[in-house]
Amino acid sequence: MSEARRRILVTGGSRGIGRATALLSARRGWPVALGYHSDVAAAESVVEEVRTGGGMAHAIQADVAQEADVLHLFDEAETALGGLDAVVVNAGIVAPGMPLARMEADRLRRMIDTNLVGALFCAREAARRLPRGTERPAAALVLVSSAAARLGAPFEYVDYAATKGALDTLTIGLAKELGGDNIRVNAVRPGLIETEIHASGGRPDRARELGSGVPLGRAGTAEEVAEAIVWLASGNASYATGAILDIAGGR
Ligand code: NAD
Repeated sequence: MSEARRRILVTGGSRGIGRATALLSARRGWPVALGYHSDVAAAESVVEEVRTGGGMAHAIQADVAQEADVLHLFDEAETALGGLDAVVVNAGIVAPGMPLARMEADRLRRMIDTNLVGALFCAREAARRLPRGTERPAAALVLVSSAAARLGAPFEYVDYAATKGALDTLTIGLAKELGGDNIRVNAVRPGLIETEIHASGGRPDRARELGSGVPLGRAGTAEEVAEAIVWLASGNASYATGAILDIAGGR
């Protein structure tokens, strides 16, 4: 069955799960816009890899915590791709593990600004700009939550877990708000995935160290999460909305 081409925007697309999502989308023949925060070389390498494979990709700098940056990101993505059919709200941070009692106000604000306010800015622009109406396949928004939303991440990052729990709730509410406009809204909840995010949490080998405790016996890869994101973003997930899909090896 031939698949409809989707013009897709992925935030945090320069590395990790976002990078894998951008590359998999491009392999499907979809034009890709990827947002990146500061690592221009990493973003350019994704664009280069897509173009080498014959695909179309554009990298756009934006701090998702800044409203003006998010507006610019969506403006540029729409201009570069001629519109958008799918948006992946993936950008996110963790911070060094500690109990809540030791967390400073700056850390808490940064966590909420990036993971929750940033996601709300991006989801709002998706709600404003994705095509409405009865055309098939429907437009799609995919939020990247975390297994931490279910597990709570005690003594590590309950602040991070709380922002991801909020994204799950956002997914449920927004799916209901936008269903009548034929825009699907879903989330994936990755478990322990081998990416560079764990280094910013102060434990670069965290995924590998804890992998044996996962029912499938290992940490997952960014590519395994990207498969689920791209499915939800595609027309193949035509009757999925308000779903929160665990890609966590049974964790
Ligand atoms: P990563 O650190 O490799 O990638 C995160 C991306 O978000 C980077 O490209 C980074 O530049 C971007 N980003 C961070 N702050 C930003 C900001 N203010 N503005 C714009 N971009 C910003 O990590 P990853 O593991 O690929 O994480 C991707 C998503 O998956 C995150 O939302 C994360 O919370 C979630 N997640 C990851 C895991 C895991 O184990 N790796 C587990 C559950 C959920």
